Amino acid sequence: MERLKGIGVSPGVAVGRAVVLTQRSEVMRFPIPPDRVEREVQALKEARDQSRHQLQDISARVSHGPGSELAALFDAQILMLDDPMLVGNAEQIIRTERVNAAWAVHRAYEGLYELFASMEDPYLRERENDIADVAGRLRMNLRHGARGPRELLSQIDGPAVLIADELTASVAAQLDWSRVQGFATDAGSRTYHTAILARSLKVPAIVGLHDASLRVAAGTAVVLDGTTGELVVAPPPDVIDEAHRRAARPRRRSGLHSEPGPVVTRDGVRVRIEANIELLEDLEYLNESGAEGVGLYRSEFMLSGRPLESVTEDEQYAMYRSLIEQVAPQPVTIRTFDLDERQISHEHPRYERRRTRPGLRGLRLGLANPALLRTQLRALVRAAAHGPLRIMFPFVTAVEEVRQARAMLIEAEADLHSTGSIKVGAMIEVPSAALAADLLAPTVDFFTIGTNDLIQYCLAVDRTDDRVSDLYEPLHPAVLRLIRLVRRAASRCRIPVSLCGEMASDPALVGLLIGLGLTEFSMTPGAIPIVRQVVQELSLAEARRLAGHVLRLATAAEIEQYLFDALAASAIQRSPSS
Ligand code: PEP
Ligand code: MG
Repeated sequence: MERLKGIGVSPGVAVGRAVVLTQRSEVMRFPIPPDRVEREVQALKEARDQSRHQLQDISARVSHGPGSELAALFDAQILMLDDPMLVGNAEQIIRTERVNAAWAVHRAYEGLYELFASMEDPYLRERENDIADVAGRLRMNLRHGARGPRELLSQIDGPAVLIADELTASVAAQLDWSRVQGFATDAGSRTYHTAILARSLKVPAIVGLHDASLRVAAGTAVVLDGTTGELVVAPPPDVIDEAHRRAARPRRRSGLHSEPGPVVTRDGVRVRIEANIELLEDLEYLNESGAEGVGLYRSEFMLSGRPLESVTEDEQYAMYRSLIEQVAPQPVTIRTFDLDERQISHEHPRYERRRTRPGLRGLRLGLANPALLRTQLRALVRAAAHGPLRIMFPFVTAVEEVRQARAMLIEAEADLHSTGSIKVGAMIEVPSAALAADLLAPTVDFFTIGTNDLIQYCLAVDRTDDRVSDLYEPLHPAVLRLIRLVRRAASRCRIPVSLCGEMASDPALVGLLIGLGLTEFSMTPGAIPIVRQVVQELSLAEARRLAGHVLRLATAAEIEQYLFDALAASAIQRSPSS
């Protein structure tokens, strides 16, 4: 038995057999029962034959015409297909380790890769790219195009716990969560997108385990506790029995329900709390959570890994309309797609991990691909006829971007003969936007502070990189100063400002945020009842005093200690026995 410790991001207990997904190689590893071995070997051989035909075809095509010298490269790749070190080794791995063929090809490829990489001869060292191509082609043919993670999971008996190096939201959205009891990832911090999704799905989850995807063998029994952040690998039967008892208890849904409607502090200040949602199913919890509308709909989740161009204007319109009608008369804030280059790339995924380059993301990406943004804006304008809608642009960094995006919206409104009453907002989640908030404020109808990104860009801490997750610090004095700056700029221009990062859903921080002048929040629906309760118990006067003191402290650790002491003191003051 081994105990691994990470950060619990979504409470509950999950018990099952480990399914290991390593996206750095885009390959899922899973155990197969003995009677499936021959089928996997057969699939491997068919993939080799198919790959050979494809390569012969390509070689024949390029040999006539310009670039005919490339034909030799493909001929060399055909020879590699017959190299016993690749397909032969992969077959051996399927038989001895009883794993799926795609994983076996990946393992065999890694062995060859190391061999080539260690060669002195630069020409031979270069050949590693060809091996990568051949292995990738084999795996592509094994996938038959459509075999996504959902289908792979369906080949496993019984409940599963997913262990991944990282889990992108698009893959998470494709998984069958009735089979996957919970998940754990090597990367991540509390704000990791997938953790947010896990909470929406009410699936126990742990992130920041560093190397669990390498240490946990597929098929091993595991117990995952999303509350304590502990992953127990190969536990003895009594631990499994105990975990089953705990897992059987209803998960999450803390039992706290709220009446919908406004919430006020002890001294009568009205605080508005809306919900962040990713899936239409989240709406089920909206009413009982007491949310006063949707403050952030992450529209990119509707794509679930599909290519952006394949989602038509009509399909988007139907989806947005349904969302708006279900939430009306409360408002819905739909954020335009917040994607990065990698997510709209047409390239075939390669085997090595490609770190997303920061830059072309969110609104910038939309402006660089105007047809995509235009389609989304048109769908939104049409949907706005069915209830109150606000449009929000993600990852805004400069005034010009907002101007351009608004011009496109005006064009769509004119084209569709709309009255043009849609409110338009900018997410403030990059330091440049926060620092220039006074210049941005006159260009929009509202601001929404996205602390998840604001923290990572302010502190230069990649929110998906476990090596620096300790440095991801919402209470860093610079972060708090940026929030205050944005709130002040909004007040001066008399536009509303809300905060929708994960920070808002931390009951320990909401008092500080109210003290900094914020009275509008949007958060994961599960957190709303408890945050509402905290709000009702505090007073604006106290919160202001608290924030005033905090802003004079120099380090996040001092701030955290001060907040903790203040919370403890007020809890003592309010306890019934005092
Ligand atoms: C944020 O950055 O705080 C935010 C809410 O957006 P996302 O988490 O979707 O990047
Ligand atoms: Mg963001």
